Amino acid sequence: MIRENLHNIWNELPSGVKLVAVSKFHPLSSILEAYGEGQRRFGENRPQEFAAKAVQLPQDIEWHFIGHLQTNKLKLVLPYASLVESVDSLHLLEAIESWAAANDRIIRVLLEVHIGAEETKQGFTTEEILHVIADSIGNLYPHIVVCGLMGMASHTDDEERIREDFAGIKALFDECRARFPQLTEFTELSIGMSDDWRLALDYGATIVRIGTAIFGSR
Ligand SMILES: *Cc1c(COP(=O)(O)O)cnc(C)c1O
Repeated sequence: MIRENLHNIWNELPSGVKLVAVSKFHPLSSILEAYGEGQRRFGENRPQEFAAKAVQLPQDIEWHFIGHLQTNKLKLVLPYASLVESVDSLHLLEAIESWAAANDRIIRVLLEVHIGAEETKQGFTTEEILHVIADSIGNLYPHIVVCGLMGMASHTDDEERIREDFAGIKALFDECRARFPQLTEFTELSIGMSDDWRLALDYGATIVRIGTAIFGSR
């Protein structure tokens, strides 16, 4: 099933859009099955589980961290993450900068935007995003590369609502790129999950994060 699901998604995904296979709560064997088909990019949202999987699985996996990250858990995540997609506060950003400076590392991140999704309070507002990027250009975070934005649409069956959410984050993404052209690495827009990734493609998704539609329900 995993094999078939993956191939179906690959066939539909435009070239240039990256697939993060979200493997949270699924066993190593499921990840290895996807790996065996050629999938190399996986996402996890819990630090402990993320670290345990990263050390046990093949080293050429590109791990994305996609969950809420507490600053006391950085050492479980930052050594293994090729992209932290879910930086959702200034406090976290500053803690990542400190860890990266102390460990002589450069950490690539996406800024999580609070769109729609009334049920979660996570993520930056539009205004905060613009401030953080200006600070980044001002070299406040020399060990962090801000690679783009991540967002989750409202959890609803209302397609119009989901489209509004995606249109909002796409507009912010475009505004950031227009206002800060010197940020050459600000290129990623991570939107779209199992139920809405096809819609996200209409709004310029460069990364989709798909779990259930690959691995089944959790
Ligand atoms: C779990 C999760 C996903 C994948 O969700 P599915 O609906 O299973 O595809 C994507 N993004 C984030 C941030 C998640 O926590």
